[in-house]
Amino acid sequence: MILHGEHFDTGRLNAVPITRVAQRLDSVRRAGSNYVTACPWHEDEHPSLTLYEHTDENRCHCFACGKGGSVIDYVMQHEGWNFKDACRWLSATYGICTTPFTAPIRQSGTKPGPKREEPPVQYIPSRMLDELVSTENSLCRCLMHMFHPEAVKWVVEQYRIGAYSFRDCDDYTVFPNIDAKGRVCNLKMQLYDSDPQSPRFAHCEKGCCYWLGKMWVREGRLPPGGEFRSDCMFGEHLLSRFPESNVVLVESPKNALFGALAFPQSLWLATGNKNQLKRSVLAPLRGRNVIVMPDCDAVDEWREGISRMADIANFTVSDFCSRMAPDAQPKYDIADYLQQQRMSVRF
Ligand SMILES: [Zn+2]
Repeated sequence: MILHGEHFDTGRLNAVPITRVAQRLDSVRRAGSNYVTACPWHEDEHPSLTLYEHTDENRCHCFACGKGGSVIDYVMQHEGWNFKDACRWLSATYGICTTPFTAPIRQSGTKPGPKREEPPVQYIPSRMLDELVSTENSLCRCLMHMFHPEAVKWVVEQYRIGAYSFRDCDDYTVFPNIDAKGRVCNLKMQLYDSDPQSPRFAHCEKGCCYWLGKMWVREGRLPPGGEFRSDCMFGEHLLSRFPESNVVLVESPKNALFGALAFPQSLWLATGNKNQLKRSVLAPLRGRNVIVMPDCDAVDEWREGISRMADIANFTVSDFCSRMAPDAQPKYDIADYLQQQRMSVRF
């Protein structure tokens, strides 16, 4: 295939074992006779993208969102690259040289690939978020136990944290993803254990995480047909408000809030989950000093990932969480640390 004078052997690029490619870009684990990894087409917290390498297909498919595709499709989606950049990266990484173009040879039996039709991007009207902004939710109740209520209110105002009632529960915490231009890309809601006596205090209830964008489309509150962006960091809209601040980048929005309350001299942002450490997501950080603070189970993965993005910002990876983690706690993050300190002094 020829693109702007460059020739790519897409057949060979798509024949690079998809598991190897996924292992390089993400974490992969075995599931039966195949492997699975996090799906880059949707917010995937539990790997649901199956990699079919042992059939003659060499493709991926997600059983949660129904998307998938070839090796090139996967790289494009995972890294947020266009077709040409994905081909370039695959060529360079797997030593598949671009060959000089001679003449297009149409092999019999090969069909042209399916036309990719991008659905239009859809945003959530800001007023719908404004109506939700509140400290009356499960997470703010936890934060109020640990930090000064006025500080919690300030953080809620800045990050536009909301409360939502859903099914039998009026206690959901809403985290908006607002981009650098102030557009609301999506709203995630989560339920936290807000009983201060519970060992799971301020931790997320299992399975209680929903995206309001899709839900509001189903309920008819938003028009159908569009796709919500998943490449926006939590707190991204604050970058222009604090142009001089050093940034600390963590995985979960909850950790960003804990960080912002305990260490307000830095601007705390979150990728959303550990698989969101991608160029397209991190692009708004251009030119900033950024401390990247992965949870304790993702330090090596993030260090490797960030090493490919040194051109974007001045990144420093901190292994603070893994140094502080007790042995028995494989999932340990900055919020766990701050809770453990129990904040004898209120900030
Ligand atoms: Zn998916």
